Amino acid sequence: MIEAKDFSGAYVGGRWVDAKTTFDVTNPATGAVIAKVADLDAGGITAAIDAAVAAMPAWAAKTAHERAAVLHKWAGLLMQHQEDLAQLMTAEQGKPLTESRGEVAYGASFITWFAEEAKRAYGEVIPTMVAGKRYLTLRQPSGVAAAITPWNFPIAMLARKVGPALAVGCAMVAKPAEETPLCALAMARLADEAGVPAGVFNVVTTMDAAGAGRVLCEHPKVRVLSFTGSTEVGKILYRQSAGTMKKLALELGGNAPVLVFDDADLDRAVAASVASKFRNAGQTCVCANRLYVQAGIYDAFLERFTAAARALKVGPGAEAGVEIGPLINADAMAKVVRLVGDATAKGAKIELGGHADARGGQFYAPTVLSAVTAEMQVSREEIFGPVAPVVRFETEEEGIALANAASVGLAAYVFTRDLSRTIRVSEALEVGIVAVNDGVPAVAAAPFGGVKESGIGREGGRQGLDEYMDTKYVCIGL
Ligand code: NAP
Repeated sequence: MIEAKDFSGAYVGGRWVDAKTTFDVTNPATGAVIAKVADLDAGGITAAIDAAVAAMPAWAAKTAHERAAVLHKWAGLLMQHQEDLAQLMTAEQGKPLTESRGEVAYGASFITWFAEEAKRAYGEVIPTMVAGKRYLTLRQPSGVAAAITPWNFPIAMLARKVGPALAVGCAMVAKPAEETPLCALAMARLADEAGVPAGVFNVVTTMDAAGAGRVLCEHPKVRVLSFTGSTEVGKILYRQSAGTMKKLALELGGNAPVLVFDDADLDRAVAASVASKFRNAGQTCVCANRLYVQAGIYDAFLERFTAAARALKVGPGAEAGVEIGPLINADAMAKVVRLVGDATAKGAKIELGGHADARGGQFYAPTVLSAVTAEMQVSREEIFGPVAPVVRFETEEEGIALANAASVGLAAYVFTRDLSRTIRVSEALEVGIVAVNDGVPAVAAAPFGGVKESGIGREGGRQGLDEYMDTKYVCIGL
């Protein structure tokens, strides 16, 4: 059994460590405090880096097969505790239990994937250019890695960093979001049970995210920094890491466009757009943020999409049948209220919702807006809430231009039954992920990441290993 009350200390060097002060972890559905967790200072973060530095050589010296055996055990334990972990996640994060269960499985799949992938992290023998010489490349772990993760996927975002890091022989210090430290601490407990050696995986909890970020960025022994979160914080970490020339993986914000063309399968386009828009109450980096629908299908799409959104059940994630939980905190609520207020003040029409849910607290009603223009904040900012702006467009060129009119480029969704258009549009979109006739593209086997201000690097796929490995060239004179 894993419960919120089990956790209070950070996990450093294989031990649970307390701090002088603690901070509260609350349930966003009720506001109840469910745990008090150690608030580490800079010294506590540095101690975790020291533990990782000390533990890494022995871990890196194991074979990929030996490390994989431990990681498989860890993934197995995550799945064995899927229900407990899902309950814990819903309690601290708010998402519906069905989504939490899915996230545990999704997180475990990254650990399994990378346990296997690291067995095939091949170097090369390069044909020689000079008689009497031979050239090879080795792929080696880059060094101690730091992970800073957000609250929206408290297990999956960490799993897709710690999976590849540990699989290739790195040790890691992870700092989860202060809203959701419990899932990360639960992962640490199960890592220990699976046989991950002390110091190889450390979880530091703190209220001082900026201070912890500085220590992790500036410490010379941390060689990789992998961050998932906002573009704004990503830019700070990018700057702070210059002094020690770290390898950076930055998985930042999105503003995903959906393009529904006249030739789309309407049922599929509606179902997949609803899934993409309203998952996790709209709080995912790949959530549909702007829905562009071609003129010939616009009215039918708007009607069907609005009806589907109206049918979604709002409530605490732990309640049976709930599809939209609370927003994470009061700031998130205020942002959604501001964006909808700005849109309506500038002429947007509310087709559905447009207000907080009747149950109060941090629940916002599923909302559909029409007559949305590019000038409205809702078109330009990542909404991170259950609000769908639906916009009419005429031609393929116009749709592509609208989709690309963003400083970020993470995911885009395209609905069409025309193969040539699928290829044309996929190639033209300025994003790292294109989902065609699908609303949930992310899987462990495929590379996930963005272009433009959505960041650098890829997680998942075979590319996910590269963030934690260096290529060494060895030249041998015979
Ligand atoms: P955030 O404010 O950037 O926080 C993310 C993490 O960074 C948290 O652990 C946070 O800690 C920490 N942090 C905050 N300020 C920091 C600083 N100055 N130095 C170091 N660390 C700092 O983002 P969020 O609002 O929680 O998460 C939502 C964002 O994440 C969205 O933009 C979303 O699109 C993005 N996201 C991207 C992906 C992707 O794969 N591209 C996936 C999921 C989410 P505290 O919580 O303790 O402040």
